[in-house]
Order: sequence, then structure tokens, then C-alpha cells
Amino acid sequence: MSTATSQTDQDKQAFWQQLQSFVGKEIGPPQPAPDEVNIPMIRHWCEAIGDNNPIYLDSAAAAASIHQQIVAPPTMLQAWVMAGIKPRVVSGTSPYEEMNQLLFSHNFTSVVATNCEQTYDRYLHPGDRLSMTTTIDSISPEKTTALGTGHFITTRQDYFDQNNQRVGSMLFRIIRFRPAARKETASNAVRPRPATTHDNSWWFDGLQNAKLFIQRCTKCQALRFPPGPVCPTCVSMDWEPVEAVGTGTIHSFVITHYPQVPGLEYPLPVLLIDLDEGVRMVMNPIDTDIADLAIGKKVDIVLRATDDELTLPFAKVHK
Ligand SMILES: [Zn+2]
Repeated sequence: MSTATSQTDQDKQAFWQQLQSFVGKEIGPPQPAPDEVNIPMIRHWCEAIGDNNPIYLDSAAAAASIHQQIVAPPTMLQAWVMAGIKPRVVSGTSPYEEMNQLLFSHNFTSVVATNCEQTYDRYLHPGDRLSMTTTIDSISPEKTTALGTGHFITTRQDYFDQNNQRVGSMLFRIIRFRPAARKETASNAVRPRPATTHDNSWWFDGLQNAKLFIQRCTKCQALRFPPGPVCPTCVSMDWEPVEAVGTGTIHSFVITHYPQVPGLEYPLPVLLIDLDEGVRMVMNPIDTDIADLAIGKKVDIVLRATDDELTLPFAKVHK
């Protein structure tokens, strides 16, 4: 029998019970919406999101719809009760802060938001006045993710109208975790990974296969970079990759000294290169003295693997 182990188990059990005691607790008093549901805010939202559904802003269309009047976009739910730029003044500590302090004291010091789910009970109309309560909904057992080991914390925000009827609800989940030990030190750090998506990963795959591609619209033939799903010239979504010749000109450049990111060498020149085909790309120079950089100089594009997973284009500047 190991006394030390059972002590650790007891500590863990006590911590878990302490953590669970926060579940179901409401965080602070109900928060009132600063404004009633109103047309100007709906208009700004629709413009920002690009939502042209007429039931949100066109009274005639809304009257003819199943709603018979203007309704607010359901996904605006959270916006109606947001505090704005000035933080709300809260007196005393809330159960949420106490829970965070408990997690901090066990070294769960990092946080990342993971997901959010909204439920709508009814459509909101101009004139509705909301308030919101926040409750600690659930706390998961300890889980290990790629980020580190921690607990998923779900808070639930319930939204009520002027008659105290619930109109919607939102579950917001974060993970509070102990950061995993860094695998890389400054000396063997790899270059930062590009943010790849469905729309641009093909371009990086091309580089891995030693090809520098430019995207060409098959409808209007316009070339474009960076890669994207829609032609900015004719809005066609049909495109094909064409291989660049690999020559260009320095349009402009900066030499960065700070902040220094592991995996890159400083001072680090960053160049805007006009490819001879007419598109512009950002890249670093290679086999080039900083003194030889100048706007208008010709460059050859060199594809170079920076590690096993990443090949990037670099500009070799002519003397
Ligand atoms: Zn086009």
C-alpha cells in the first residue's frame, strides 16, 4: 500500500468535489440589455453579416411573411445584452471567479474557448427588452487534449423578455488547462505553420510538389493571389491552378527586428514581390545580402523546404 498515492487520490477527489460544487451556481445578478431590440442595431448587424433577408428590415415583406412583422436575426441573441466597451461593474467576487481561482491554484492557468451552441425559443421583435442570467452549467472530469490536461467548463446564458419568459439560451464552453510542456526550444524551433483552409491548402500542397501555383479564373482568366474561392473580378467560383514562371520584381520590403518568432532568423527581411504574371506575393529573401535589397530589383523565386512538412517560395535577389 502506498500512502503517498492514496493521499494524492484523496486530494484529487477533494478538488473534484470542490469543483463540482460550483455547478448550477448563478454568476451575479441578471444583466439587463442596455437597449430594447431595435431596427438600427438589426440594420448594422445585417450589413456586417451580409444577410439580406427582407424579414429583418423590410416592413412590407415582413408583414407578408409567416412572422407578420419585423423580426430580429436569431443569432443576434447575445448582441442585445452585451455590455459594450465599458466593463460592467461587479461588486464582490462571483462563483465564476472563485471557480477560476480554484482552477488556477491547481495550475489550470490557460484557457481556450472551444464551442458555443444557441437555442431559440421565439423570434424577437423591435421593442422586446431582454435580460440575461449566467449559470455554471457543467464541469467535465479531467481530460487530456493536444493543448494540455484540463477541465471543460460550460456556462449557460438564459435570455428572458420583459414578461420574464425565456426567449433563448446559449451554452458557451471553454477548456481551462495546464499547458503541455513545449516540444520546441528556441534553437530547434520550426518555422510557424501557415493557416491552411479548404481554400488555400492546395497552394501549399503545390509547393510540397515543387510547383509555385497562381490561381486563374476559368471564366474571365484573371489571375489572383492569395488563393480564395471566388474570383474578385467576375465572382465566378470556377478556377484552375497555373504554374508561375518564377521571376519577379521587389515591389517593397521591410526589415523586421521585433517581435522575434522562434523558427525565424533576425533581422528578417519581408518582401512584396510582383511576379511577372502580375500577382503579388509576400516572401522572405534567400541567399541574399540585406544590402542588396532595393525596390525594383529583379528576383528569381526559389522553392525551399524549411522542414519535412513545409516548402515555401523565397526570393533570390539579383546583384
Ligand atoms: Zn473571373
